[in-house]
Amino acid sequence: MSAPASFTHEVIQAAYFIAALLFIIGLKRMSSPKGARGGIVWAGVGMLIAGLITFLWPGMRNDILILVAIFLGGVAAWWSGKRVPMTAMPQMVALYNGMGGGAAAAIACQELVRGRPFAPAPVVLAAAGAIIGAVSFSGSLIAFAKLQGLISKSLRYRAQQAVNSLVLLATLFLGGWVVVLHGAAPLPVVAAFFALALLEGMLITLPIGGADMPVVISLYNACTGLAVAFEGFVLGNAAMIIAGMVVGAAGTLLTQLMAKAMNRSLANVLFSNFGETAAEGGEVTGSLKPIEAPDAAVMLAYASKVIVVPGYGMAVAQAQHKIWELCQLLMDRGVTVRFAIHPVAGRMPGHMNVLLAEAGVPYDLISDLDEINAEFETADVALIIGANDVVNPAARADKSSPIYGMPILNADKAKNVIVIKRGKGAGFSGIENALFYLDNTRMLYGDAQKAGAELIQAVKALE
Ligand code: NDP
Repeated sequence: MSAPASFTHEVIQAAYFIAALLFIIGLKRMSSPKGARGGIVWAGVGMLIAGLITFLWPGMRNDILILVAIFLGGVAAWWSGKRVPMTAMPQMVALYNGMGGGAAAAIACQELVRGRPFAPAPVVLAAAGAIIGAVSFSGSLIAFAKLQGLISKSLRYRAQQAVNSLVLLATLFLGGWVVVLHGAAPLPVVAAFFALALLEGMLITLPIGGADMPVVISLYNACTGLAVAFEGFVLGNAAMIIAGMVVGAAGTLLTQLMAKAMNRSLANVLFSNFGETAAEGGEVTGSLKPIEAPDAAVMLAYASKVIVVPGYGMAVAQAQHKIWELCQLLMDRGVTVRFAIHPVAGRMPGHMNVLLAEAGVPYDLISDLDEINAEFETADVALIIGANDVVNPAARADKSSPIYGMPILNADKAKNVIVIKRGKGAGFSGIENALFYLDNTRMLYGDAQKAGAELIQAVKALE
């Protein structure tokens, strides 16, 4: 009898190994837009294997309940994945991420209320995973509600940090109690422990400005990974440990990358209310000089090189298809066209890459900041579409600016700059942009999609 049991064990471990390998290959492929779609499939197959093999675990129970949960979750994910617009992707990620944290916390909860005697290490990991997972769950739900516009105000009051710290201390105290009792704590203590951890996640997230949510979501993503890995140790489940570690590491790197690309510390993101209060910045002189679509079309059509800089406004207007159509017309006329992507253009990492890929822009026309910045000097026109902060020269020179030190695209170095935006609206940081007032800058006012359509007509009319 022992041979089949050990054989089953070997099969399970081998399947987990293959699943972990697929997660890592998938993640690696996601590092380039070309491989990203395939990467999701690789990782998805890994998840499928890890999920299916779980049914082989000896002593596995509640198969029907698990299958019903998988069915319901699968249908909901399929439906939302198909329907959610690209602009709502950050809140969808928040929701999925929150579910991961919630699942890790639920595992911890089940293990802790079971009252089974724990060895010291697993009970510490179970309690730590419970706190991190619960904070990530409730925090991600608040992030979702903010991005979805369900919560419009950021909750701020005096002594907020003190209250948050007290709740955290109380949570840690109850967690410590659970650990000391080796997981045999009375149910009310475990319940209070989870309730406080959930409350802490809400309290931390409520004061943070909606526009900072992508960084927060990425941070919670890292936390979810960590919580899952901890619970993997508790359950002795290799796939959970590896997948959790991979998610934790990727989330941490992404959070760091986003904070660095904004030249802000994580503490500044979490505690500063950035973009919600009137921001300071140096004086901007000069005037805004409007241009009409036919004149802008002439500048573009007779240029030899045009660098397109998409930003948040392009995403809001869903103008990527029109812009690509315009660029194709320009390329047909012999104009060299490149797209310059800032790492935090839009409201989530890769936002612009995803939109441009959706519109069919070939990857070799798309360059990131480091690759393209030196090329602006050789461009006849920098065409800015709904971008603002990522091309604000104040980041280079104005020490009083809240975005000072943030790497920017050097659009101001182009011979001419055309900016498509609706009016005088500020960017995410809430500050003026000196680029718009330069002698070589012209403002093409209007919604990016409408302006794109007008430019297409005007370029066609030149033939
Ligand atoms: P910004 O938010 O700085 O500026 C967007 C501009 O788009 C606005 O000035 C607005 O002006 C214009 N706009 C809005 N709607 C439209 C429309 N329908 N048509 C045309 N224009 C429109 O965008 P950027 O992409 O330049 O910068 C991103 C900012 O977001 C950075 O400050 C970054 O730090 C921050 N951020 C980015 C994250 C990320 O991961 N990508 C995460 C968190 C924050 P007007 O109202 O006049 O039209």
